[in-house]
Amino acid sequence: MGLIRKANEDPIGYTPAPMCARLHDLHSHSTASDGTLAPSELVAHASVAGVDVLALTDHDTTAGVEEAGRAAQEHGLLLVPGVEVSVTWQGRTIHVLALRLDSGSAALEEGLARLRAFRDWRAEEIGRRLEKQGIAGAFAGARRLAPGPVVSRTHFARYLVQQGKAANVREVFRHFLVRNKPGYVPGRWASLEEAVGWIKNAGGQAVVAHPARYRLTAGKLRTLLHEFAECGGVGMEVVSGSHSAGDARAMAEHARRVGLLASSGSDFHGPEQAPWIRLGGVAELPQGCTPIWEAWNG
Ligand code: AMP
Ligand code: MN
Ligand code: MN
Ligand code: MN
Repeated sequence: MGLIRKANEDPIGYTPAPMCARLHDLHSHSTASDGTLAPSELVAHASVAGVDVLALTDHDTTAGVEEAGRAAQEHGLLLVPGVEVSVTWQGRTIHVLALRLDSGSAALEEGLARLRAFRDWRAEEIGRRLEKQGIAGAFAGARRLAPGPVVSRTHFARYLVQQGKAANVREVFRHFLVRNKPGYVPGRWASLEEAVGWIKNAGGQAVVAHPARYRLTAGKLRTLLHEFAECGGVGMEVVSGSHSAGDARAMAEHARRVGLLASSGSDFHGPEQAPWIRLGGVAELPQGCTPIWEAWNG
């Protein structure tokens, strides 16, 4: 389409900016998982922050998508239905984002229900392990702090901070919730192939979340990305709230070599993460990337 429009093409005088010029934040959380804003509050917050296209990608649930979609219509921004799927790959936990899901895929919803069932068992197990360390009531406390269908380690961390067991959430993770610490329970999540299969079944695009955060060697990361592409994955986060500028450049190069599209998202969980993580606070993609939204219309 040319740059000059006929007057009658735009009768109400509103022409959305072209897709490439809009601010995209394609990774965020609500109270449906471990975020602190309800889906509608998250969308209102995104609108104030100048985000044009927001993906809601809660951990292992799409429960917030409908409410977020309604709010997005009111605020005039585009809501991308998504989810962040927990995956176990070579003994590690990897996160795979789904973007642009259609509603009502039985395969995806059944798969996510299985992951949430594991989460429920894991939460009780974390509670039992912490109990042995003399920390009582952590399961009930975390459960109470989780308003939605997902209990996350983040809820345990918030509870332990409330109980004065550590100064902040990061410290709880460091001392209690990671490998070789008393409250750690190894993940038994989806396989890479399952996760990508569910996402494709739901008409979505599969994207590796925050790849630099896994601290893989370059060779191991290449193996992951190639396997992911073979399963039908199409993109990876190049810009992420948990990537440095150097990480983004390195990930851009990986994306280019493996032939994956580039995505960009803050991984926002709530306003209390300011100033480190803000909704819409994402740098531009480095040169040489193909943005995943380039082929999106509307
Ligand atoms: P889960 O999926 O329940 O195992 O919890 C993973 C979530 O915990 C991530 O999505 C982050 O929100 C949070 N998380 C993981 N590691 C840390 C950390 N070191 N500091 C703060 N939050 C973390
Ligand atoms: Mn999280
Ligand atoms: Mn993640
Ligand atoms: Mn996330």
